Parts: sequence; C-alpha cells; structure tokens
Amino acid sequence: MSFQSLGLSEALLKAISKKGYTAPSPIQQKAIPPILKGNDILASAQTGTGKTAGFTLPLLHILSENRREKFKPIRALILTPTRELAAQVYANVREYGAYLDLRSAVIFGGVNQKPQVAQIKKGIDILVATPGRLLDLQNQGIISLKRVDIFVLDEADRMLDMGFLRDIERVIKTMPDKRQNLMFSATFSKDIKKLAHGILNNPIQVEATPQNTTVEAISQKVYRVAKGLKTNLIIKLISEGNWKQVLVFTRTKHGANRLCEKMKKTGISAAAIHGNKSQGARTKALDGFKRGSVRVLVATDIAARGLDIPLLPHVVNFELPNVSEDYVHRIGRTGRAGANGQALSLVSADETTYLIDIEKLIGEKIEVEIIEGFEPDPNASAEPIKPGGNQQRRNSNNRKGSNNKSKSRRRYN
Ligand code: AMP
Repeated sequence: MSFQSLGLSEALLKAISKKGYTAPSPIQQKAIPPILKGNDILASAQTGTGKTAGFTLPLLHILSENRREKFKPIRALILTPTRELAAQVYANVREYGAYLDLRSAVIFGGVNQKPQVAQIKKGIDILVATPGRLLDLQNQGIISLKRVDIFVLDEADRMLDMGFLRDIERVIKTMPDKRQNLMFSATFSKDIKKLAHGILNNPIQVEATPQNTTVEAISQKVYRVAKGLKTNLIIKLISEGNWKQVLVFTRTKHGANRLCEKMKKTGISAAAIHGNKSQGARTKALDGFKRGSVRVLVATDIAARGLDIPLLPHVVNFELPNVSEDYVHRIGRTGRAGANGQALSLVSADETTYLIDIEKLIGEKIEVEIIEGFEPDPNASAEPIKPGGNQQRRNSNNRKGSNNKSKSRRRYN
C-alpha cells in the first residue's frame, strides 16, 4: 500500500516523502482511512509503530480541507501525558504540516507560560497539550476549546496511570459534544475501556500489535545476578559489547542518578532522565543520546514514556518494573521499524515474582543466563522488594494476579 492510495493531499505527500517514508506502517494503513471518513477511532498502538503520523496526517488533511477563518479558533486538540511526548507530537505536526497553511502550538508545564500564551494569542488551528497546563490556561481565560472539531487522546493508558482521569474529564466538558475523537493506548485495561466508552462514539477499532505481547523482532534475555553486582555487570555488558546507544531503566530517580554517576566514573558517557530533572536537562540528555554524544540514557518509566528514539538497539532493565505492562512498554523501545533489538533484564532474587508476572503477561519464558563472576547470591531472599522509595509499588494481592485497581492509580516520578 502507498501513501497516495490513502487519499492524503499533495502537500502532505510532499512532507511524507521529505521524511523519507516509503510506505505507511500497519497502524497508519488501518487508522488513516476511517479517520479521513470522520469516524471515531480506538487504536491499540505503542510508540514505535508510527502512531503519531497515524493520527497527525489525517488530522492535518481534514483541517486543511475545511473552512478557515481570519481569526483561527482551535479546531484540533491533541492531549498527551508528558511534556516530552507533547514536544515530539508538536514537532511531527510541524513537519507533516510544513506545506499547509495551518498554525499550531504546544503547551506544557515546567516552563514559563508567556511564550506559549503569545503563540496561542496569534490564533492557532492545532493545540498539543499536557492536561495540567491546558487547564491552567483555560482557567486563566487564555484558551477556549469551544470550536474543537477533532480531539486526540494519546497514550491514554499512561494518562490514567499518571492520575489524569479527572483532568481529562474536565477538559472534555469544555469542548463541543459534536466532535471527532481519536484515542490511542498501548494497553487496554478495564479503566481504559470505560474511558473509551465515555468519550468515543461508535469507534472503529484498529490494532497495530497484539495487545500485551512483545514485538517479535526483540530478543529478550534475563541475566540472573546478585543485586550488588548489577552495576559492574551492566558496565561489562556495555563495554565488552561495545554498545553505542543503550536505554537503561531503573525503578527510582535516585537509582537512575546513582547508576549514571557510576557509568561516568568508568568513562562511559551517560545521562539520567526523570521527573526531578528540569525540562532543559531532559531535552539536553535526549538530544545528546540521539546525536550519539551520550551513550547511555538512564531513565525511569514515566520519563521514558513516549520518547521518540528511532532504531534503538539495546534496552536494559537494570531493575524489573513492578507492573508487568511496563515491561512491554520498556522493551517496545527496541526493534523498531523492522530492526532487530535486544532487551536484557538484570534480575536479582527479590525480583523473582516480578519476572514470573511478566512471563505470564507476555505468554512466554524468557531465556536465562548467568555470567561467571556475576552469579546470583545463593543466600539472597526471594522476598519481593518492600514498598517504599519514591514510587508506590504493587501490593501483594496484585502480585498474586488479582485485578487490583491500584494499578491505574500508581504514582510515578
Ligand atoms: P511513533 O510510533 O509515532 O513514535 O513513530 C516512531 C518512528 O517511526 C518515528 O521516528 C517516525 O518518524 C517513524 N515513522 C512513522 N511513520 C513511518 C513510516 N511510514 N515509515 C517509516 N518510518 C516512520
């Protein structure tokens, strides 16, 4: 299938070809035609599938076809959970819309609102926003969503995880009832289905990868190791494997900082990205990582969510996530765009139950290896890590597989 056959305008086809895309990805093939027809969409797709272009291209097409007014009211709202994702989606809107007469803006918290407000006041067609700053500017009377025709809810599952449900509901109340809704989510819990039911009108369901399964192009391995030897093991793997670009996940912000410092001491360029870092520091770390001056990016789950890091060859779980779905999100960062990726997990005795949960979720056993000199501690307890630190951990009921709702109320860095 070609982009031409999807019915997108010449201006969009030109921007697509400038990006170097030769064919639409599966999610784009499935989502673009019904969106162009005006349908609501419920799409199951995670980052790396091309989902952003999947909603941005038809959205731009529809807006450019419809009537324009001298003073531009906001006609499309794209809501994302994190600042990084908002910035990336906005960059996509700009790139794909380069040959169209449409104006857009991005707003998120953590930075001065003045430049954002100035841009909005000039009149924009498309607004990309995180919920907090959006509500803030709405309360100040700076933003009106009364003319929104298209509403996109990106990474809806993460929105709920981050506790944005009430904010989403508040935002929705400020938009006209008659509008087109596009909802994207990597996973589909009961809460997500309920949210979708409340927002979407006869949605067409599209799926890019089967739910809750790992991408086939990713090779997964577990290294059983003593907790105290993890840092040395990861340094050995990175150095001896001569890995040039590695995304490492830790469970806490402090853990990310600590590991990052140790890497730097051994001469491996590393940067940490998490909720305590300023927007500027996060952007700098991500840019360095993309350009190759930062070899290792150490991240917490929420900071890494939605980051567009193309063709990532290695993802390492320095600690396993305590919620199995996060494992699927994490390793979805590798093996993108058809390339093979490697997802490795360093697992100590106290993470055994997490590993069992993950294997249950993905429906397969992950290959285990033990490296000489880095053996697991035979005396270590297999008791799971006790709740505490900066992140709320799953309780034991949940670990036993009960459908505990606290999952959707987790708090992150
Ligand atoms: P996303 O899932 O939206 O984060 O996109 C993941 C990556 O795929 C981004 O780097 C996009 O630029 C890229 N991408 C999106 N659509 C295509 C396509 N049709 N062909 C090749 N790459 C694409």
